[in-house]
Amino acid sequence: MRDPQIDNIFQVAKAENRNFLFEHEAKMLCGLYGIPITKLEVVKTEDAAVEAANKIGYPIVLKIVSPQVLHKSDAGGVIVGINDEKGIREGYQRIISNIRKNVPTAVIDGILVQEMAPRGTEIIIGSTVDPTFGPTIMFGLGGIFVEILKDVSFRLAPITKDDAWEMLDEIKAKKILDGARGMPKADKDTIVDILLAVSKMLTECPEIKELDMNPVLVYEKGARAVDARVIL
Ligand code: ADP
Ligand code: MG
Repeated sequence: MRDPQIDNIFQVAKAENRNFLFEHEAKMLCGLYGIPITKLEVVKTEDAAVEAANKIGYPIVLKIVSPQVLHKSDAGGVIVGINDEKGIREGYQRIISNIRKNVPTAVIDGILVQEMAPRGTEIIIGSTVDPTFGPTIMFGLGGIFVEILKDVSFRLAPITKDDAWEMLDEIKAKKILDGARGMPKADKDTIVDILLAVSKMLTECPEIKELDMNPVLVYEKGARAVDARVIL
């Protein structure tokens, strides 16, 4: 049986008539499946943002929390690399004014304060539900590799560990994961673990219609999901 905390995440969304999870909820869900996520806190005042930042530790990323803003950076709803209290206060106000200007109808639920993860190899893990075959899992490298080159691999969930390794091996740019052209190597064991965790999550949570972890930053050791979106 799945963790009751998971049921609770879906119940809250349902009670609020939402067909999606906020980033912090999607990350909490990922975290419950053992996927490494950023530390985070949702706040509703500038002072609370400063307090949360002190607790989490700098550098900090601030993001909008609004049901009308699912693509946060397009709307001016993401500020990265904040290093002090002044930056938090300015960033908090800037995000709110950006959203008021860019999405005038948006209801602002709060501001998400989160740990800024160090740079790493960007990967994307996603899922959509095929009407006949059920949930699929997609893997690719971030940025142009997925968006322009469509260099991705797919499997139906659930996958085995061998399937996950094959997914890493099937993309054309796979050498990037091994540190081609002076790039840092990416921890492939961790990517495989994340793919298996996603598979388990999709199998146990039929509520999930779409998943988009974009990006996950992968290091020589370990990884961190810095954005996650779930459509119900
Ligand atoms: P969007 O809703 O626009 O996809 P994201 O949450 O993905 O917003 O943020 C936009 C970009 O900001 C990400 O692609 C990533 O490069 C960077 N970013 C976001 N959160 C973090 C974080 N916690 N640590 C480091 N970089 C981040
Ligand atoms: Mg994103």
